[in-house]
Amino acid sequence: MQDYLTSLADRLATQHRLQLDEYRELIDSRNEALAKKLAEYAVIERKKHYGNHIYVRGLIEISNVCKNDCLYCGIRCSNTNCSRYRLSPDEILECCHEGYKLGFRTFVLQGGEDPFFSDDLLCCILEEIKGLYPDCAVTLSLGERSRESYARLKAAGADRYLLRHETATAAHYGQLHPGEMSFNNRIRCLNDLKELGFQTGCGFMVGSPFQTTMHLARDLQFVEEFQPQMCGIGPFIPHCDTPFGNEAAGTAELTCYLLSILRLIQPKLLLPATTALDSVSPRGRTMGILAGANVIMPNLSPQSVRKKYMLYNNKATEGLEAAEYKKELDAAMASIGYEIVTHRGDAKQ
Ligand code: SAH
Repeated sequence: MQDYLTSLADRLATQHRLQLDEYRELIDSRNEALAKKLAEYAVIERKKHYGNHIYVRGLIEISNVCKNDCLYCGIRCSNTNCSRYRLSPDEILECCHEGYKLGFRTFVLQGGEDPFFSDDLLCCILEEIKGLYPDCAVTLSLGERSRESYARLKAAGADRYLLRHETATAAHYGQLHPGEMSFNNRIRCLNDLKELGFQTGCGFMVGSPFQTTMHLARDLQFVEEFQPQMCGIGPFIPHCDTPFGNEAAGTAELTCYLLSILRLIQPKLLLPATTALDSVSPRGRTMGILAGANVIMPNLSPQSVRKKYMLYNNKATEGLEAAEYKKELDAAMASIGYEIVTHRGDAKQ
């Protein structure tokens, strides 16, 4: 069995693809030796394209107002215990100003699907940011919008867009989302974003309710076929004020294992070690980097709102998760042999 699994790992490292059943087998039969081998291969692949460089992004959580009711998410519209906020354009610009001084050259504007942030308003904000910081990239992560809307945001200067597909299995998507949301629209959005020329990111939660190994295998196959520039994955973590409040969290172990596999599927992928990974394990970020991740997204939101953007309980917001600790983060990465670079950090072509 171990020989067979090793042969799958070898083939993945050279051909960057496996059959659906093989992905499933690789996940189902995983063990420590195999995880170590895949991480070794992943680190070699990453080094070929990115050397020892780690890219950072300043994450600005612009609003926790959301019209959606995703069953897993703490800022879902029906959570009346959530104290809502939205940043003003000036507050967003102030975050960019702070971030630029700290050495961030990518700003990620993330938020719930808040209708207040119309195309007109977002285009104004984008033009201001790009005017003030022409050497910076702006990533948006604001959920599902129309193709026309995405086209306007692109024209106003947005470079990248993160929209996790959440799960590549339509039936599973239906178990995680209310009836008004559809898997097809999610995929329509991702296809539009890619066609419009955004550096596009998909992604999924690890250990979400009802998730099977087959679902994860399909997620891997989806990434293999969609060929995104970025892929965000992190463990599902329950939030007490959601229908999934009593479900178990996903593990750092499986998340890191999948990070290694994703690196091998697409060696040039921008792959963050996420806050959720850091929230389930005190060494989560480091484990993620050592497994093959190459991006870190410290929180650049105003201090006062960080706890309010609570997608899940026990979100890591202190220390190296905070953008103010950029120097300490540089030192922590240097201590494991990596260098945080001060440039946009685009995906290699
Ligand atoms: N509204 C935006 C941003 C969503 S928040 C959008 O739709 O893209 C960013 C990501 O956080 C989500 O895509 C989801 O994968 C993740 N997330 C939400 N709730 C979570 C939870 N309880 N545990 C772990 N990750 C969660």
